[in-house]
Amino acid sequence: MKKQEIINWLKCEDDAELEELWRMSDTIRQNHVGNVVHLRGLLEISNICARNCHYCGIRAGNDELGRYRMPGDEIMECVHEAVDYNYGTVVMQAGEDFGITREWMTTLIRRIKKETKLAVTLSLGERSDDDLVAWKEAGADRYLLRFETSNRTLYERIHPPLPGIESDRLALLRRLRGIGYEIGSGVMIGIPGQTWEDLANDIETFRSLDLDMIGVGPYIAHRGTPLGIDDVAFMAPEGEQIPNTEEMTYKVIALARVVCPSANIPSTTALATLNTATGRELGLSRGANIVMPNLTPKKYRAMYEIYPAKACIDETAADCRACMQRRILSIGREVGTGRGDSPNRGKRKAA
Ligand code: SAM
Repeated sequence: MKKQEIINWLKCEDDAELEELWRMSDTIRQNHVGNVVHLRGLLEISNICARNCHYCGIRAGNDELGRYRMPGDEIMECVHEAVDYNYGTVVMQAGEDFGITREWMTTLIRRIKKETKLAVTLSLGERSDDDLVAWKEAGADRYLLRFETSNRTLYERIHPPLPGIESDRLALLRRLRGIGYEIGSGVMIGIPGQTWEDLANDIETFRSLDLDMIGVGPYIAHRGTPLGIDDVAFMAPEGEQIPNTEEMTYKVIALARVVCPSANIPSTTALATLNTATGRELGLSRGANIVMPNLTPKKYRAMYEIYPAKACIDETAADCRACMQRRILSIGREVGTGRGDSPNRGKRKAA
């Protein structure tokens, strides 16, 4: 699919034509990754963050937020819960928390690998190559790092670097692949200042990075952030701004499936936040094949407030497990049991 065609789909508002896009992405999903929906248990291990991203509620400058870092033993209890729920993967996500040291994380990954058969995914932000190599050697399998937007000017405006360190997530993703991780990335949809051309470039970037996983979700304004306070000031000119809507998110999921047929694509929590009733199911029916039920203990969930009114905030891990299973079965799909490794990576290895 050429860039102009991607833009045409992004701009399309005709329901009958969009049905064609949903059908196409669902067929490609079925042919390339099948009927199974893999479950990844998401554990938000720390909301401490050194960064000041202009969009994110856990940014360092948000003084209104209580902060936490889960102790290793508590993380291990949740990891064993993931095994009990038959999840194939645990995803450990955090703010960019340098209190999570190389050694501490290495010990934790080794422990998980010794005590379980789970695949381990990390989403800990921009860390040094030495950290990333150590964690890979300890047994980590995958790394998630959204590049947020491929428009460098917009990226620099919303994602200030740490003092003296350039932030280049695209370069880091390539290094992660070189180190041996399955790599996942993605963008927010409807960032103030993001244009049709930008979003089409993002989708083309999914293809050029040959991603193993693509996670996309709507940008949701948070009042404790510079963008959330005054997003109007940052909007693209009339007619150029991408709306941060549910429908735009389905379009990006569907187009991601078209350009990367074998990637693992989650139906995300941000999408479920815009439509709690059927957002997850519609994402799954329009190209997605992964869900990430939350494993984070309830006492921490409200503190991992990257955007407000996040779905599943009042639920326990057991609630999330039951809810996801019900939703998957309700649309005639099967619940995955294995690790759900990237079929994309398998193909690359064979080539
Ligand atoms: N610190 C790690 C990182 O930066 O990759 C992982 C945690 S970060 C909170 C995870 C993702 O949350 C970001 O990549 C971003 O896309 C998303 N996010 C943050 N603020 C958001 C907002 N206001 N609306 C939607 N998504 C948001």
